[in-house]
Amino acid sequence: MTILTNARIHTLDARGTVADTLVVRDGRVAFVGRKSDVNVAVGEPTLDLGGRAVLPGLVDAHGHLMYLARGRMTLDVGGVSSEESVATRVATAAAVAPHGEWISGRGWDQNLWPERRFPGKASLDRVAPRNPVALVRIDGHATWVNSAALHEAGISRDTQDPTGGIVVKDAGGEPTGLLIDTAQRLVQRAEPLPSAARFDEAVRAAIAECLSLGLTGLHEMGVTLFALASYRRLVERGQFPFRNYAAVAGRSEETWDFYRDRGPEVIGDGRVVVRALKLMSDGALGSRGAALHSPYCDDPDNRGLLLIPADELARLTNEAIERGFQVCVHAIGDRANTLTLDTFEQALARHPAAARAARLRVEHAQILAETDIPRFRALGVVPSMQATHCTSDMDWAIERLGPDRLKGAYAWRSLLGTGVVIAGGSDFPVESPNPFHGIYASVVRRPRTGEDRGWQPEQRMTRQEAVRSFTTWNAYAAHQEAELGALVPGRQADLIVCSGDVFACPEEQVKDIRPLLTMVGGEIVHGRAEDLSSAGGRGAG
Ligand SMILES: [Zn+2]
Repeated sequence: MTILTNARIHTLDARGTVADTLVVRDGRVAFVGRKSDVNVAVGEPTLDLGGRAVLPGLVDAHGHLMYLARGRMTLDVGGVSSEESVATRVATAAAVAPHGEWISGRGWDQNLWPERRFPGKASLDRVAPRNPVALVRIDGHATWVNSAALHEAGISRDTQDPTGGIVVKDAGGEPTGLLIDTAQRLVQRAEPLPSAARFDEAVRAAIAECLSLGLTGLHEMGVTLFALASYRRLVERGQFPFRNYAAVAGRSEETWDFYRDRGPEVIGDGRVVVRALKLMSDGALGSRGAALHSPYCDDPDNRGLLLIPADELARLTNEAIERGFQVCVHAIGDRANTLTLDTFEQALARHPAAARAARLRVEHAQILAETDIPRFRALGVVPSMQATHCTSDMDWAIERLGPDRLKGAYAWRSLLGTGVVIAGGSDFPVESPNPFHGIYASVVRRPRTGEDRGWQPEQRMTRQEAVRSFTTWNAYAAHQEAELGALVPGRQADLIVCSGDVFACPEEQVKDIRPLLTMVGGEIVHGRAEDLSSAGGRGAG
């Protein structure tokens, strides 16, 4: 048993109660309220929190633990300011890599480069002629490769575009080294997987990173059997101090084939739960792959890409619902969102009870036609959104969409106004896993640099809503509201002791809050109790 006291405990119960004392027993909240009401024997371990704020553990409703882990093993080319600078980093990696070994990386974004033009194989061929190179765009929707990788993947001028993907070719018909959306799979299939031992270590490091930022769990979108095997090993060894509500990757046929036959799975003590299917309906805005009703303003012949035929989306949705899975469909463009809502509406007509109970989700719900906004509430569909995408995309989203369509873009207030809850996430590693960046973006709707672009400030969330989008609302979106989300008796003791009070600090400081202590199931998994008491008494700030 542990007693946390002299704190500002934001319980996030239905009434928004703030308490000063919380008792943890057997990994769960046994009591929360006033210290004078605690009835325990003298001598129980007590943590005096010096007036600090406590929140329920924050959960990211859309993250990619396996990519965060992979990213730690590969080249990070995030935030790099030109194609040439990326090539320079590849050159450094190639200098020490044996001939033939793949050089993988992630994070480039041509929107940060002077010409904002997509890169090509030539710059990589110059620096790494003997190593296949595959660099995934920051949003995961395009891969930039060199000639050696094209060769290994068997991609040539004769390669046809797969459904939902493009092998970009030059005027002469030669592949340029850019693969969009499903065409990336051609290279992914050729690229060797890391060893289990190395991957397990990387997963542990990725979890430690999440815990250090205040996350106690995530909903992982698009997990494969390879990643789940690692999580299972770590859970069995007691090395998974985190919670993962996993949606398996519909794009990985072997993964969905396995779970379709098996049904939902609870791994170990429930740290990892597999009970959702992730499907992709379109690409992303940054690579102009998001499927729009009308053409892109900055590319008048292009309406984006649907990655899956409508009947296939319907078939998989029904199949998953019939087997007790939730369905989470990635939809960014307004056309993809309409298609997804249409599909859900038909599934609800076919399986009224099971489809309602599944709590169907639209991942991103980024650009919505006005008429689609009330359909979420009407159909009982949860929008799962990433506030930091809004503040990261601001610079170029208007060029892609024009002013009219922006009205339905990242439309948090319009959705909340219909009575739905929004599941909040980051899409890490596309964005940082730091949940306080997400809460900050939700509340101020400005980049962390602070400049005010005046982009639909009326769509902002309140602090209460923003924090709920990372706690109680996410618990609902994962069927875990009886276990997680709020600090009330009976729920898991997943919580963070914060450096500042997200409800009371000046707005600009929300993004800088960090956890001094992170607890999952009553166990301290980040920070040290000793450090808290010695530095106690500083209060909120
Ligand atoms: Zn994602």
